[in-house]
Amino acid sequence: MYTKFQEHLQKELADIEAAGLYKHERIIESPQGAEIMVGGKKCLNFCANNYLGLAGNPELIKAAKAGMDARGYGMASVRFICGCQDLHKQLEKKIADFFGTEDTILYAACFDANGGVFEPLLSAEDAIISDSLNHASIIDGVRLCKAERYRYANADMADLEEQLKAAQKNRFRLIVTDGVFSMDGNVCPLDKIYELAQKYDAMVMVDESHSAGVVGKTGRGVTERYNLRGKVEILTGTLGKAFGGAMGGFTTGRKEIIDMLRQRSRPYLFSNSMAPGLVAAGIRMFDMMSETNELQDKLHENTDYFLRRMKEEGFDCKPSESAICAVMIYDAAKSQKYAAKMQEEGIFVTGFYYPVVPKGQARIRVQISAAHEHKHLDQCIEAFKKVRKEIEG
Ligand SMILES: *Cc1c(COP(=O)(O)O)cnc(C)c1O
Repeated sequence: MYTKFQEHLQKELADIEAAGLYKHERIIESPQGAEIMVGGKKCLNFCANNYLGLAGNPELIKAAKAGMDARGYGMASVRFICGCQDLHKQLEKKIADFFGTEDTILYAACFDANGGVFEPLLSAEDAIISDSLNHASIIDGVRLCKAERYRYANADMADLEEQLKAAQKNRFRLIVTDGVFSMDGNVCPLDKIYELAQKYDAMVMVDESHSAGVVGKTGRGVTERYNLRGKVEILTGTLGKAFGGAMGGFTTGRKEIIDMLRQRSRPYLFSNSMAPGLVAAGIRMFDMMSETNELQDKLHENTDYFLRRMKEEGFDCKPSESAICAVMIYDAAKSQKYAAKMQEEGIFVTGFYYPVVPKGQARIRVQISAAHEHKHLDQCIEAFKKVRKEIEG
């Protein structure tokens, strides 16, 4: 029965490979960190979302082990059937305190949080007004909801205003945006979004996945950056990036919204509860955030240093208020060459080109971490210089 389908897949896969779009995965033989082992060779990692360098943090490993000893390995149930542990409630409270919100609901991942946030809250009379560069999980979540869809060009406030005008006919309006867009590293203009939301009677949702732990003086995300703590109705985020890099997602915000999600959000109702070890480490992680700002300070210093040095060396970098630095190459084929040669130098960065970014806007994305020391950043900059010389002559 499989033969025809197998041939079909083999052909499609060969086409993907021929187009140069086949995703080959590298195999890491060490914990995640600034330095990783790949093929028995030490390399520098500049493509992880390990913004605060917590993925290999000994205190979090200890907390995860203690959590497993105290509360076991797994939950083996969804919450509405078996309930949850005291640890889950503690973590939900810590997340709400961190963001200055009223309540939090945990998911297995932020993909699930976004997948399960729209459909329970909005229906056909309502409007979702979404930034054109929002994450795939937001796009999928919106597809599952019957609300009318409006789209505005990335961070384009004139376009957002047009869409808000058009959506005045709807019952409720929800503006949805990523906090940081992962291709340019630009922060959403939440101050202006919030103003327009007030003017046109709309609610606001921000996905803080790339911004939480990073943006704002103390890493409380874009609501800290724009002095809007507690003002935005819905925030979603992940424990899989700055917050330790393991797994877990959340929606945090207004009490009634969270309460309704507990009643009706399908990825919450029909998917397993987070494992106790991860929850315990999450609690420790938020405690660490409230004890010291060391990691955020180091990350911000590292990012400033990297961008300043790269500019001094004549590289064209997009301005960044996040930990994502886009080194502009413009030409797609050339960007692939840069990424491959950087890898030969033992530096892992990602090349992005059309259709992931607009035509003629190819770039190398460098992700900075608090785990990086200046010597790592200097090695990365030296490699960029060497590769430029090889490519540009
Ligand atoms: C990474 C990311 C997600 C998905 O988070 P997971 O917890 O890994 O599922 C969702 N939204 C945005 C904006 C992201 O960057």
